[in-house]
Amino acid sequence: MTSAVRFQQVSRHFGQVRAVDGVDLEIAPGEFFAMLGPSGSGKTTCLRLIAGFEQPTAGHIQIFGETADGVPPYRRNVNTVFQDYALFPHLNILDNVAYGLMVRGVGKAERMKAAGEALELVKLPGYGARRPGQLSGGQRQRVALARALVNKPKVLLLDEPLGALDLKLREQMQEELKSLQRALGITFVFVTHDQGEALSMADRVAVFNDGNIVQEGTPQDIYRRPKNRFVADFVGSSNVIAPDLMASLGGERRWASLRPEAIRLAGDGVEAQVDNASFLGAATRLTVGLRGARLHVMLPAGADVPVVGADIRLAWQPDDIHYMDDAA
Ligand code: ATP
Repeated sequence: MTSAVRFQQVSRHFGQVRAVDGVDLEIAPGEFFAMLGPSGSGKTTCLRLIAGFEQPTAGHIQIFGETADGVPPYRRNVNTVFQDYALFPHLNILDNVAYGLMVRGVGKAERMKAAGEALELVKLPGYGARRPGQLSGGQRQRVALARALVNKPKVLLLDEPLGALDLKLREQMQEELKSLQRALGITFVFVTHDQGEALSMADRVAVFNDGNIVQEGTPQDIYRRPKNRFVADFVGSSNVIAPDLMASLGGERRWASLRPEAIRLAGDGVEAQVDNASFLGAATRLTVGLRGARLHVMLPAGADVPVVGADIRLAWQPDDIHYMDDAA
């Protein structure tokens, strides 16, 4: 099957800065693909390379089987939703959405109809006459989405599109984006530094560090089987256990990760002390001291919660220990 996006040893260097450094990547048609990583890891540059706003300094990019080498952004069948939405303040919403079609020479009646349909798709029918300044942040975000979708791109690129929204709105938009993507069948490539967002929305996630992909896989893979300490730390929430402690617990002398929800309180387990207990609603998170290390333990709702300072015993299944590469 032809990939929607294919990178072959793609680099983009800016002088001494290796923003993207030898990336291989294949994104399948219709996939919701997240690029996750800390600030400066090269995600946005990868997105801009797909869009055509940047050209590789080495390597090749294909979009749906066709070479993108030297192809300008407007000839790529790819659209971008920018973090700051980039709406035209002096145009009303309908004209903002129809703008791309106007530039491509689509007649007025046809482009207004298409823009109206796109606004319906993002649940903003009836807002066409307003200006961007008369909308909330969440509504502006939807307009930006409609403006990209109206061009019927084969690949939609989203650069931290939910970053400016508050938590509740962000969660709502995450679900809407996901169902929109399913309904339209367009390939979505999404850049974020928010691991929760990547894991909850994407079919597949690439974790970036220093201009390269450290690990690629389904959200479950990345969460359960982080390849190394960097991924385990960055994707967060997992406990990272040093080789000496692992050996003292009867395991191999290697770096390992252990998910907080895999640890339970058990009378015959390893001794630990409760340093802190945080009630999270659906669960309680304990911070415990175990032979000099600090671990998190997630207790399900309804479990007995030990008091801070209590001596407790912890156990887990051997299968829940996941050994990792040494690389930090
Ligand atoms: P963020 O989440 O902060 O946007 P990112 O992972 O998207 O980060 P990039 O924006 O791709 O990272 O940047 C990767 C590296 O390349 C950074 O060190 C950045 O400073 C550098 N860089 C990006 N664009 C340019 C440019 N036009 N000129 C010089 N250096 C650049």
